[in-house]
Amino acid sequence: MRKPKIHIVDVTNRDGVQTSRICLSKLQKTMINIFLNEMGVFQSEFGFPVTRHETNYLNANLELVKKGLLSPIRMGGWLRATKDDVHTAFRLVPQIRHLNLSISTSDQMITHKFKGKLDHQSVIKEMSEAVREARKLGAESIGVNAEDASRTRMEYLVEFARAAKDAGADRFRYCDTLGCDTPFTIYERVKLFAQEIQLPIEIHCHNDLGLVVANSLAGAKAAHDCGQDAYINTCVNGMGERAGNADLVSVVLAIKYGNGMQEYSLDEKINLKAAWKICKYASYAFGVPIPINQPGIGANAFAHESGIHADGALKDRRNYELYDFEELGRGEPEIIETGRKITTGEYSGIKGFRNVYEKLEVAFRDDAEATEVLELVRYANVHNQKPLVDEELKFIAKYPNVARHIFTMSP
Ligand SMILES: [Zn+2]
Repeated sequence: MRKPKIHIVDVTNRDGVQTSRICLSKLQKTMINIFLNEMGVFQSEFGFPVTRHETNYLNANLELVKKGLLSPIRMGGWLRATKDDVHTAFRLVPQIRHLNLSISTSDQMITHKFKGKLDHQSVIKEMSEAVREARKLGAESIGVNAEDASRTRMEYLVEFARAAKDAGADRFRYCDTLGCDTPFTIYERVKLFAQEIQLPIEIHCHNDLGLVVANSLAGAKAAHDCGQDAYINTCVNGMGERAGNADLVSVVLAIKYGNGMQEYSLDEKINLKAAWKICKYASYAFGVPIPINQPGIGANAFAHESGIHADGALKDRRNYELYDFEELGRGEPEIIETGRKITTGEYSGIKGFRNVYEKLEVAFRDDAEATEVLELVRYANVHNQKPLVDEELKFIAKYPNVARHIFTMSP
């Protein structure tokens, strides 16, 4: 039997941005996709193909796939599992190839959300039609999401997943939408399920009980124990609806360093070296500080003060540190200008702009090119409403046409 793997499907650009009070500009979402690719993440759930204001951003990011910048990462869209939404998705974003189709499966949701519009059998029918339609229109991979799976009757969930498989789904997403699972229940449920269905399983958990990373690991372990690949859904810095989704870096660390996890093989493309950069960037972009005790990334993750711990850590880091800070991309000195600093903004002029790019060692062919990029940088500032970071400035200079596409909005 082929040894199954645990992959990461990051949903920062979907669950993360649909969260109350936080949001990302389309440029910031693009940067997150680029950094996720550098980190070796299998798939980025990069947005909502049926939502009009996402259209240009999604199409522009699919251009970056073609140009090889967003590769090998897969760009996956999220939509409701209805034939109509699948149609709209392919009309607005014709090059989309990876989809997750979502529909609620619990009695609670079917009775109290659909309110008679759909019953258990029509939920299965809608979903199956949507999967077939997506395949017909060119989807290469299709995940079917059972929203509120953790409160769904097991019998029905198995029937639903079997229908998804029959319709041609490649993966099944088990959603603990309310975060009510525990590692014990999710393990039992996913195991039963993986045995019955024999399909790769995505684990989508929420942190309402503070168990999100533990639940994600337990769910993945269950799939793995049944010989199935597992795909854990994460968000950078644990963002996501309410108390958040599983933190990307914590999940990777837990699989790599958790007791008893060594036999579970993590996707070998994962590169933790990019962790520091993406977490710092997401914190800046969301405007949400990183807690000092955040695993691996928080200011205190490698800090020691008490006599016994400091002495011990200095004698041998393994005394009090489970993994190395260098592995996470920490430790490089951060150079912060303390004297004069020219930034770019909505109203920048060409002289200051040239100064900023000279420092980044980006040269322009001629004045015309510099003026064109300056104009795009002004637009980027209108979108982000905060000074651009070096990677954003370099991206705009290197891919001006894609950047223009991302900034274009026409309601
Ligand atoms: Zn969610």
